Amino acid sequence: MEIGGIEPFTLTDFPGKVAAVIFLRGCNFSCPFCHNSSLISKTSGHLSSTSESSDIPGVKGDNQSGLESGSIEQCLEFLQGRRGRLQGVVISGGEPTIHGDLSDLLQEIKEMDFAVKLDTNGSQPDHLLKLIEKGLLDFIAMDIKAPWHKYDQLSGVKTDISRIKRSMQIITESGLPHLFRTTMVPDLLDQEDIQEITLLIPEGSPYKVQPYRDPS
Ligand code: SF4
Repeated sequence: MEIGGIEPFTLTDFPGKVAAVIFLRGCNFSCPFCHNSSLISKTSGHLSSTSESSDIPGVKGDNQSGLESGSIEQCLEFLQGRRGRLQGVVISGGEPTIHGDLSDLLQEIKEMDFAVKLDTNGSQPDHLLKLIEKGLLDFIAMDIKAPWHKYDQLSGVKTDISRIKRSMQIITESGLPHLFRTTMVPDLLDQEDIQEITLLIPEGSPYKVQPYRDPS
């Protein structure tokens, strides 16, 4: 597992918490609208950001440069230095749940008393359930890419919809704060699709349609 970048400070990515965002490399989807496409590969690329500067060794953060990749140790060192100043850590990507050793990282973060939010595409329900059962998550945000009949087109891969459905069920049954969300991608989704997705969202679960932002 490699760190693709760190957003040192955010007020908007973890509801109610001042947080940092850790971007893990590697994703099993290939969404044509991906903002973090440089992180899809497990081994190369870095992430652009407009965040405040970072003091993590090997991780830059200023308005001109991207946040470069660093090791897990550097990431933990960075978080150690932010104890008492940040309340939460968002684990994003890429798709964090493709990494079998994710729970080790989350355990270390929890031991530093940070709340953890997971951003996921919902493709790994078994792993998701294990993380929940271990008490490693405090908030889950799951992407619902499209209505079922368009899923492969929006995820960029042949998608097992039963796994997406199971993740939705696991999340709603977990009792954890959560959010289902869809990026409104121009030319690929329309209002009819959004209405269709809305009907898929379990009753009582928050759902948000977020505007597409052109990565350029
Ligand atoms: S699931 Fe997320 S990180 Fe992966 S390709 Fe899609 S948008 Fe990019």
